[in-house]
Amino acid sequence: MSGTPHLKLRRLSCRYVLTSRGWLRDQSIGIDETGRITDLIPGQPPWDGFIVIPGMPNAHSHAFQRALTGVGERVADAQSFWSWRSLMYRLAASIGPEEMELLATLACFDMLRSGFTSVAEFFYLHHGPDGRSGVAMAQAVVRAADRTGIRLRLVPVYYERGGFEEALDPVQKKRFAHATVEAFEDYVRALDGVPLGVGAHSIRAVSPSSLERVGAFAESLGEGLFHIHVAEQEREVEQSHRAYGVGPIRLLDQLGLVTPHLQAVHGTHADPEERRLLVERGANLVLCPITEAYLADGIFPAVEYLAQGGSWAVGTDANVAIDAISELRLLEYGQRLSSGRRSNLADRSGIGTRLWQGAALGGARAVGFPVGVIESGAYADLVMLEDPCLLTGGDPDLDLDAFLIGGSCATIARVYVGGTLRSGSGRSTDEAVLRTEAGHLMARLRERMVSRIGSG
Ligand SMILES: [Zn+2]
Repeated sequence: MSGTPHLKLRRLSCRYVLTSRGWLRDQSIGIDETGRITDLIPGQPPWDGFIVIPGMPNAHSHAFQRALTGVGERVADAQSFWSWRSLMYRLAASIGPEEMELLATLACFDMLRSGFTSVAEFFYLHHGPDGRSGVAMAQAVVRAADRTGIRLRLVPVYYERGGFEEALDPVQKKRFAHATVEAFEDYVRALDGVPLGVGAHSIRAVSPSSLERVGAFAESLGEGLFHIHVAEQEREVEQSHRAYGVGPIRLLDQLGLVTPHLQAVHGTHADPEERRLLVERGANLVLCPITEAYLADGIFPAVEYLAQGGSWAVGTDANVAIDAISELRLLEYGQRLSSGRRSNLADRSGIGTRLWQGAALGGARAVGFPVGVIESGAYADLVMLEDPCLLTGGDPDLDLDAFLIGGSCATIARVYVGGTLRSGSGRSTDEAVLRTEAGHLMARLRERMVSRIGSG
């Protein structure tokens, strides 16, 4: 296979495949010209792959924040979410379209390598370094997705104020904000041809009347997806109660925005009634366990939410570490550390199959593509697992438990998007060149950020 870039499959045979009907053994997956699955029929050795599972949709990402990895970890650098945010703004101020494309390309390669095959990019770094409006920054992300082959749902995000009663700070104003909802709508419409969702940054950065209008705009576009950060920080929840007399999710519900199209990101500090509301209205919750730990946000009570039948997905958010199975592992481990009990999120199949399948199904809702499941009509976004020590082939549920507890990117042999090989052996080598280039950029950005921390 080596030397065959972007190898396109027409059929893939495997020992075990995780389908919408559960595990099937000895299967051959047919794939058509458009990259969709046509059928699953009995297959026989030699196998192309040992275990094949659905590619994971990444439900929430800010690609440019990849450059923050490792910065701001010294004493007094950035001890709270809010001081970290100032650091992130300094990074945002240094990024033009060229840097954006490079960082997004790097992030997308790392997503693919870890089993993410599609991504909802929650995008608010709209304007260029000169502050002028236009689509150059957004197009840089689209180019990165094209270059790596990841399936992109771009989610342009409306941003209008610095906080509940705060004006925009200079970086927010120059790079993130639109003067009116109409100006934002024109900007989004100029991205015609790109698969789009619509976001509002948060209830602190957007007023209720604008939330209503942005929500209606989201509803009018394509799949109607509406993404928003909610209840990530206790301070935001307190401020919401003070300003509106209700918590963030209750406020969204009063505005008619808690619907099956809602992608509620984090929800860490939502109260029990708000969590129940998400389940009752059929909304989707996007958990970002690595980022929520990195930012010291808190631990979402996932046991209760899953027991209620809540729909959920995972996102890599700040992208300081990109690894699908680590997101799921940390989701479970957070529950263990807070409850003092093991296997909190398990069902009878164990934990690996349940969490991978749950996150893939919810993730498909967040990216708005027919993915996250292996069945006829869905895109052949597939992850092939192989590791003779970790995966023994006796029982695929046990193997996925082993993947969840002890696996990593190294357990993933190949990743296909629409039947085209995008990561793993046989993939083209321009990734190595890009990594060197991206490494130089990361060094420059890191130096700039660290020297600014030093100078206050
Ligand atoms: Zn986010």
